[in-house]
Amino acid sequence: VIAMAEKLVPVVCPWCSVGCRFYAVSVNGYIRKIEFDYDHPTVNRGKLCPKGVASYQFINSSKRLKKPLKRVGERGEGKFEEISWDEAYRIIAEKIKEIKETYGPEAIAFLGSEKITLEENYLVHKLSKAIGTNHLDFPGRYCQYSNAPARTKVFGSAPATNPFEDVAKAELIVIWGHNPAETAPVFFGQYIEKAVLDNGAEMVVIDPRATRGHKYASIHLKPYPGTDLAIALAMLNVVISEELYDREFVQERTVGFEELKESVKDYTPEWAEKISGVPAEDIRKVARLIATKRTALLVNEGLNQHVNGFEFALALANLIAITGNIGKEGVWSGVFPGAQCGFCAAMSGIAPNKLPTGKLVTDEAARAELERLWGFKIPDWVGLDLTSMIREIGNTIKMMYIVGGNIAKSAPNSKWVQEQLKKLDFLVVQDIFLTETAKYADIVLPAAAWFEKTGTAISAERRVQRTYKAAEAPGEAKPDWLILVELAKELGLGEYFKYEHPDEILREINSVIPVFKGATPEYLAEHPEGCFFPCTEPGEGTKILFKKGFKTADGKAHLQPVKWREPPEMPDEEYPLWLTNFRQVGHWHTGTMSFESPSLKKRWPEEYVMINPKDAEKYGIKSGDLVKVETKRGSVLVRAEVTEHVREGVIAMPWHWNVNVLTLEETHEITKMAELKAVAARVSKV
Ligand code: SF4
Repeated sequence: VIAMAEKLVPVVCPWCSVGCRFYAVSVNGYIRKIEFDYDHPTVNRGKLCPKGVASYQFINSSKRLKKPLKRVGERGEGKFEEISWDEAYRIIAEKIKEIKETYGPEAIAFLGSEKITLEENYLVHKLSKAIGTNHLDFPGRYCQYSNAPARTKVFGSAPATNPFEDVAKAELIVIWGHNPAETAPVFFGQYIEKAVLDNGAEMVVIDPRATRGHKYASIHLKPYPGTDLAIALAMLNVVISEELYDREFVQERTVGFEELKESVKDYTPEWAEKISGVPAEDIRKVARLIATKRTALLVNEGLNQHVNGFEFALALANLIAITGNIGKEGVWSGVFPGAQCGFCAAMSGIAPNKLPTGKLVTDEAARAELERLWGFKIPDWVGLDLTSMIREIGNTIKMMYIVGGNIAKSAPNSKWVQEQLKKLDFLVVQDIFLTETAKYADIVLPAAAWFEKTGTAISAERRVQRTYKAAEAPGEAKPDWLILVELAKELGLGEYFKYEHPDEILREINSVIPVFKGATPEYLAEHPEGCFFPCTEPGEGTKILFKKGFKTADGKAHLQPVKWREPPEMPDEEYPLWLTNFRQVGHWHTGTMSFESPSLKKRWPEEYVMINPKDAEKYGIKSGDLVKVETKRGSVLVRAEVTEHVREGVIAMPWHWNVNVLTLEETHEITKMAELKAVAARVSKV
């Protein structure tokens, strides 16, 4: 008789940044199912979306990596032989030493991930610096990096301003380039639907597609992709020229109003209509609503994933500041990261110019302080962002160490990325599956999945929560933090990586990253609801940011003059349509995990392209036809869905499959954001 010891282990959902809590039901180290936590007084109150319900399925997939692998075939072919952990560590350590001696540490680049915990991202950061490189980034470069630097410029700090519950208290909800009904479904049901259905809030949707939440919207603006900036500039023009701004707030809490006023004076709604295709009167209507109502402004990748996303984010930061929709209860604004661990990577300072403390690598005093804590020298130069790293492969970048990211599929112009990966001298990938990127690796290290390790996650409302180990990893797979610790020992860096449990790493984070000082393992264990960062002492989190002042040197919001900037590629005679992309509720990122979850793959089986009936007629396309979608980078074959749910002149494909064959790697000079959501395309029946 086998003892069936059933355990309920509290976990945080592994997927999106809503950060729902539930129980993993563990039987002898194996997860059988999940249980809802109805009594828990936090985000989801017992509710889960289809991904949350399926979240244990990929963990039990037979395709999980179980042993370290060494490449025996060509790069990209996916042919490997199994090796021992000792051999894997030895090969990697020797290669790192060889590359450092031949080219210097600046030939090595690291990527953290939105799929691993705060502790693990922190160790990726620490190991890269211990090896001597600042070439450090994560695939979230293509997620948050328009909004975050723009808000830091205006407010001195980037994260979302308020807890989710404040969305339900707003009078107006503006959902702009965001589809929370599919990307953050529990948040949508718990807070947005509550605001609209129970509290009578008005809703505005700004999106070239009709998203699943648009049925509640009183106004739906449908701009061409990449032209949202024109609408935001016109809204600033309306609010300022009609003197609808919050005078007291502008006077007491901002600087730079006159320069902003001057910069937007010519951007009338009629001007914006010509660029965006949105009627001028509708732009006026929404601008007046934002200026007169307590507003929750929800943005996501429709803002972020554009080369002009930085300017768009600056315009929106200006707009919420001059309308006084910040620093108080009942408003909401900020980035809604695709993954809760995107925040973990960002807050561990995973970026080419940052320290984990949030200070810059070029800040000598900040570096010296961290060198004292860590005990080793930190490089003082600014490293490369992700796209620049890929560009430099075959030139200055010789080796990449990728933890959990799947850039062969998620990075723009993915065929180009794959060709670049072939040119590396050495590639290490740590992951739970043999991803498209892992197929290019020299060594693949099998990692433990979520639910197989303890660690910290951070949701979009800045809630810091602990998730606990509920299952044993398959075969010889190990948690990412442990792999990094063991590799550090092999590299002779063991004295700086003396951790035996994630609690010890979190305690170090408590002393290194000021905003997490109070998020101790003990506090989080006793308070499953977690805390809101900045959390400077246990029990002292910050629910609403900027109540007393902004994080700038003078405590004021620094309004920024903004100019119109065209997307880098516009439709023309050869490629007459705009191509954009969207997320589906049943899949996540490049599908590494959701494609291995049978209930999700069955319900959301394949990619397709949405096309408006007028465009479909022009090209002789019917629903279900196999069509070729082409851009200057490449082409993909997909089925067509002819639907009014996308505006004329625009086609749209889900993100999770092959759309990045078509997107553009050109980047913004400050944010290094590529163009993932607005490229010129054509479509033809096959
Ligand atoms: Fe998980 Fe997000 Fe769904 Fe909640 S809404 S169950 S966090 S995927």
